[in-house]
Amino acid sequence: MPQRWKGGWHGRRDAGDSDYRHRGKDGQGMGGLMTKIPWTNETINPWVGCTKCAAGCLHCYAEKMAWRLKCMGKPAYQEVLDDNHKWNGNIVRQAGQIEKVLGWRKPRRIFWGSMTDIFHPKVPFEWIDEMMAVIALTPQHTHQILTKRIERAAEYFGKEYLPKRAENVSKQMQIIKRNPYFYLQDCCIDDKVSLVLPNLWLGTSISTQADADKNIPILLQTPAAVRFISLEPMLEMIQDACHGFPRPQIPFDRRMIYGWFWEELDQVIIGCESGPKRRPCKLEWIEYAVNQCDEANVPVFVKQIEIGGKVSHNPKEWPKWARRQEYPK
Ligand code: SF4
Repeated sequence: MPQRWKGGWHGRRDAGDSDYRHRGKDGQGMGGLMTKIPWTNETINPWVGCTKCAAGCLHCYAEKMAWRLKCMGKPAYQEVLDDNHKWNGNIVRQAGQIEKVLGWRKPRRIFWGSMTDIFHPKVPFEWIDEMMAVIALTPQHTHQILTKRIERAAEYFGKEYLPKRAENVSKQMQIIKRNPYFYLQDCCIDDKVSLVLPNLWLGTSISTQADADKNIPILLQTPAAVRFISLEPMLEMIQDACHGFPRPQIPFDRRMIYGWFWEELDQVIIGCESGPKRRPCKLEWIEYAVNQCDEANVPVFVKQIEIGGKVSHNPKEWPKWARRQEYPK
């Protein structure tokens, strides 16, 4: 018997589900979720489950959503939560996800791993090889990966593993081409792929200055065609990410590196936390980040902001400077 989620099956909207709505009869028919995340069109979860690893994880929306999906009897979610409805660290593969992507003909932006961290340490690189093969074989789509474990992404795409990864991805591509769901694009797809795929956007999440200090340099040293950061939930002012805003206690050489790094980003997503126990996010922090993006000529996408103590998703309610929803050029 599935357990009952105390909020009921439908209707309640909180940190756990604010980014999702259930698929109706007109959905893709694979029992997935339609996303309301405004910077993407679809979410795909070839595996689910996670472990909290950063300040931004405290009110993890995916964890709350996982409890609802477990209550609904979704098989992949039965083993990923403990008795207190918290992530237990298990990662479970979910059937049918890859096939969905292979069958989509019309171009769309696809966010991989909304109910997990794609680069969680328990995810074998072989699973990621299969995902990369799908990405290589669907050039009509833009694939978005956002991770808090950017150091593991750097390891995956790093020189040490690259030959083995490329070989495995090529093998997976051969297997996928025989998949009955696979819709072959009218274009030439080379089996000897470079893992710097033009249709893959790689990003890392940043909530605090410490996250920025650690993650941005790693992201920008990781091979990727498009790199983005997500400042969501933004928990404090993120400084020193752009030259022109020097902070005296930061060593000169590091400021120089940062200035160069920030300009190398292709997109910055910004948002406050949402949900009942959300932590505050001052408008001035968001304005500061938007200004830094402008200074460095980086596209900026403001997802949601806090106005008068409430979270607003509606740009019409925002100050003019915040109404920015731009994509990589
Ligand atoms: S990495 Fe993402 S999915 Fe995992 S616990 Fe943190 S916020 Fe949740």
